[in-house]
Amino acid sequence: METITNSPQETDQLARKIAEKIKPGDVLALYGKLGAGKTTFTKFLVKSLGFEDRVQSPTFIVARVYNKNSPSLARVNHLDLYRLQEGKEVEDLGIKEYFDELNSITIIEWPEIAENYLPRKTIKIRFTELGENKRKISVQNLH
Ligand code: ADP
Ligand code: MG
Repeated sequence: METITNSPQETDQLARKIAEKIKPGDVLALYGKLGAGKTTFTKFLVKSLGFEDRVQSPTFIVARVYNKNSPSLARVNHLDLYRLQEGKEVEDLGIKEYFDELNSITIIEWPEIAENYLPRKTIKIRFTELGENKRKISVQNLH
């Protein structure tokens, strides 16, 4: 599925649609250059999933965890792998454990270095900047 959004609000609408389709246990890998919209999309998605936390880029730490009091979807893990140097760190730092959590949705910015560790069913979302407010967003593996 491929969508062009012409404003952050349109990206919010797309995030809402995706929020309705994803389930606890899902892993989402967000690809795209700096400024493409990965964190913005994550903010909208986390809000649509019913979390009230303030979402900011986890760049200086590898992971932020958002919690809510819900038995079905208790957590969203927001990872940013930009600062990792090699794929092996995904295991060494325990990042891989996030991918296996059944009650969480895990969102990964800069997932390339973890490519070999991503679950086979990972939902892959690619962001391309087409203009100041225009983004191409393609979604793969969303059922
Ligand atoms: P990334 O996390 O990919 O580095 P950010 O989400 O931090 O990118 O930054 C994207 C920037 O682009 C934000 O300032 C956002 O407001 C802006 N923007 C403009 N148009 C859009 C759009 N259509 N969708 C998402 N973000 C957009
Ligand atoms: Mg970001």
